[in-house]
Amino acid sequence: MGEVPKHTRAVIIGGGVSGCSVAYHLAAAGWSDIVLLERRQLTCGTTWHAAGLIGQLRGSANMTRLAKYSADLYVKLEAETGVATGMRQVGSISVALTAERHEELLRQATVARIFAVEVHEISPGEAKAAYPHLNIEGVVGAVALPLDGQCDPGNIAMALAKGARMRGAQIFEGVKVVDVTKAAGRVTGVDYEVGGERGHIACDVVVNCAGMWGRDLAEGSGVTLPLHACEHFYLITEPIAGLGHLPVLRVPDECAYYKSDAGKMMVGAFEPVAKPWGMQGIREDFCFDTLPEDWDHFQPILEHAMNRLPLFQTAGIHTFFNGPESFTPDDRYYLGEAPELGGYWVAAGYNSVGIAGSGGAGMALAHWITEGEAPFDLWEVDIRRAQPFQRNRRYLKERVAETLGLLYADHFPYRQMATARGVRRSPLHQALADRGAVFGEVAGWERANWFAEAGQVPKYRYSWKRQNWFANARTEHMAVREGAGFFDMTSFGKIRVEGREACAFLNRVCANEIDVGVGRIVYTQMLNARGGIESDLTVTRLSETAFLLVVPGATLQRDLAWLRRHVGGAFAVITDVTAGEAVLCVMGPRAREVLGRVSPADLSNAAHPFGTARQIEVGLGFARAHRVTYVGELGWELYVSTDQAAHVFEALLEAGGMTLCGLHTLDSCRIEKGYRHFGHDITDEDHVLEAGLGFAVRTAKPDFIGRDAVLRKRATGLARRLVQFRLTDPEPLLFHNEAVVRDGAIVGPVTSGAYGHYLGGAVGLGYVPCAGESEAEVLGSRYEIEVAGVRHEATASLVPMYDPGSERVRL
Ligand SMILES: Cc1cc2nc3c(=O)[nH]c(=O)nc-3n(C[C@H](O)[C@H](O)[C@H](O)COP(=O)(O)OP(=O)(O)OC[C@H]3O[C@@H](n4cnc5c(N)ncnc54)[C@H](O)[C@@H]3O)c2cc1C
Repeated sequence: MGEVPKHTRAVIIGGGVSGCSVAYHLAAAGWSDIVLLERRQLTCGTTWHAAGLIGQLRGSANMTRLAKYSADLYVKLEAETGVATGMRQVGSISVALTAERHEELLRQATVARIFAVEVHEISPGEAKAAYPHLNIEGVVGAVALPLDGQCDPGNIAMALAKGARMRGAQIFEGVKVVDVTKAAGRVTGVDYEVGGERGHIACDVVVNCAGMWGRDLAEGSGVTLPLHACEHFYLITEPIAGLGHLPVLRVPDECAYYKSDAGKMMVGAFEPVAKPWGMQGIREDFCFDTLPEDWDHFQPILEHAMNRLPLFQTAGIHTFFNGPESFTPDDRYYLGEAPELGGYWVAAGYNSVGIAGSGGAGMALAHWITEGEAPFDLWEVDIRRAQPFQRNRRYLKERVAETLGLLYADHFPYRQMATARGVRRSPLHQALADRGAVFGEVAGWERANWFAEAGQVPKYRYSWKRQNWFANARTEHMAVREGAGFFDMTSFGKIRVEGREACAFLNRVCANEIDVGVGRIVYTQMLNARGGIESDLTVTRLSETAFLLVVPGATLQRDLAWLRRHVGGAFAVITDVTAGEAVLCVMGPRAREVLGRVSPADLSNAAHPFGTARQIEVGLGFARAHRVTYVGELGWELYVSTDQAAHVFEALLEAGGMTLCGLHTLDSCRIEKGYRHFGHDITDEDHVLEAGLGFAVRTAKPDFIGRDAVLRKRATGLARRLVQFRLTDPEPLLFHNEAVVRDGAIVGPVTSGAYGHYLGGAVGLGYVPCAGESEAEVLGSRYEIEVAGVRHEATASLVPMYDPGSERVRL
């Protein structure tokens, strides 16, 4: 090992598969002046003991894309580096023991097809033929992926490390990073320790790939990286005569996976209640360590295994393995630049798919670092979704006990977490709960998703078919369309931007004209240089120098980070004021009538037109009433100081005439109206014109981020556009990630979907390639949506199917 250099371009912390992959891909992208520091030895954390399954079946479009990239890379790695990776495309079979699980597998297979991952739906008999040891009792169906693989995880990491070295990266073992130095909001280098001596490397970029150590390391730099280790188990048998070469087998309904290797059988577990580990920190000398056996904990898995693969009844046990792995509150890993500190990047928290995940994640992160933008939408795994409160260790400990098992649980649509709930609540929470609210959680916020009727159990019963709240949602939806609905949208992120240069600054980051009269509300997007959408928001001018930005609750940290990154020296103060106001929304054709009963304000179109905000009296208090809508109806969002929120709600209730509505209804109404949702229909990958939001872009403004990209796209024409679909058969459901099929060929995923109770069928949005085509040509095709392998006829529209002229908004 040579001398640790004094400066470099990027320091990667951690020599597990994640760090090795980031190093490999940064070097491959031309950043050869990089250093990887590993506190002990490469792979000595979690990587060395992984089971080595490389699966490509994922629940969402971009996660499938990344998993496929990993699998394709690992197949080539041995030839490239000369390191024996053990990667073999043995294929995989996932079997379903229930009809619901079968539907989930078939839906995942459809997602796989969008990215040309080879996948076959097979019968129980075909599964038996491919896997003779399998007891197919209770098996209702299966899917097979012939190009899935298994590998030697440690050697995958070693091969990536070698590939990185071959391109100039330097890797040092026995060097522990003790601090990340910073100045003026950016990293400047790392302090490290080697053999009791301290040293420093100056660098522009630091990448935290420290696995389960990553949270505490980040904490030292003020960076939020919420993850927590859990014990994770598998068991390996003694050699079994005549075992043969078998594909990987997953039986998620029994929380188990099976792998054959060198004549032995492995069974691994994703048990429903896991054992969090390392609450008090990780031993300093941890290196290739294992944790104690726990036979009682593993027993239920083993019992299922003995039934599912009877060979376990007689095989001797060679190894009981227990090792720690880091898990996150939502079962998704973290990638990207930390919002708190410029130049501090993260690739950690892999939830037991770090081997399969790191190839794609390393590629994506390296692209992001070197190009300044992610290669495609990575919001699902973006570090900016982490909430500051999630650093709480008790929260993490309670939550990861659940998330480990969720990997193999049914991933039903709308499924909510059961643990560590209730951290962030609206002032109306209890009042809504008392009236039947059934809550879901987003960014820690408890939000009423639907309201149970009197006598109905206020609890989800999940399914891939119509869930138990379908009729409730219909009632709520129709109340919004025909009467007045009430939504509690307190979870909105609220950002105040104030100062003598606030207007100029916002006009530079927003694509629409922000320099409007006081009291005007502007719907706009913040764009990146590619014209992609970084944020979807409304900006309300409160005074000459003060603006209120309203963003989705889930994107607040991301939006704050984007604003802070671009504010530079402008005289504008950016403050998160989310907790200061509750948001009570009255929406529907009778909204004026309902609000008029509790407010003396003139709510006529002349006095309070669409797109304006005014302070009004409500009951005994005040609200700033914003005339906007996300459901496509006449309505007001009342921004009420949190101390008055309960009172204003009571006043509205007393006025009567409103139906309490949940977020599911908000979603179904907005999809009918074709309103886009950030993170689904519009992301940083989606050009604002292709998203159909050109009406909110003012290229007459001389200078805003993304303007050139908008002008370019206007000149070259759209390559794809967001289209709205409705299934003609009223029965099947769309959630998202179903496949849009145009004239018989899959063209992409449904980006969001819901049941359109007014339109009378499932409605969804999705992009359709359209280079050089007229609108008539786009609409002239035959469209279907593939749901769980079955194609359903769909009508397509480029204008909202509900109220295309927006007349109802201006009633
Ligand atoms: C039982 C089990 C089975 C699994 N099976 C699979 C599987 O089949 N497929 C799959 O895809 N995944 C699997 N996984 C998950 C996979 O092993 C992990 O997701 C992956 O190894 C995580 O890699 P990492 O690089 O993030 O973390 P690690 O491998 O833990 O690497 C982090 C490294 O950072 C180093 N480090 C920490 N702090 C510092 C510091 N301050 N300075 C320098 N270095 C530091 C550590 O020493 C460590 O080497 C399994 C995990 C377990 C436990």
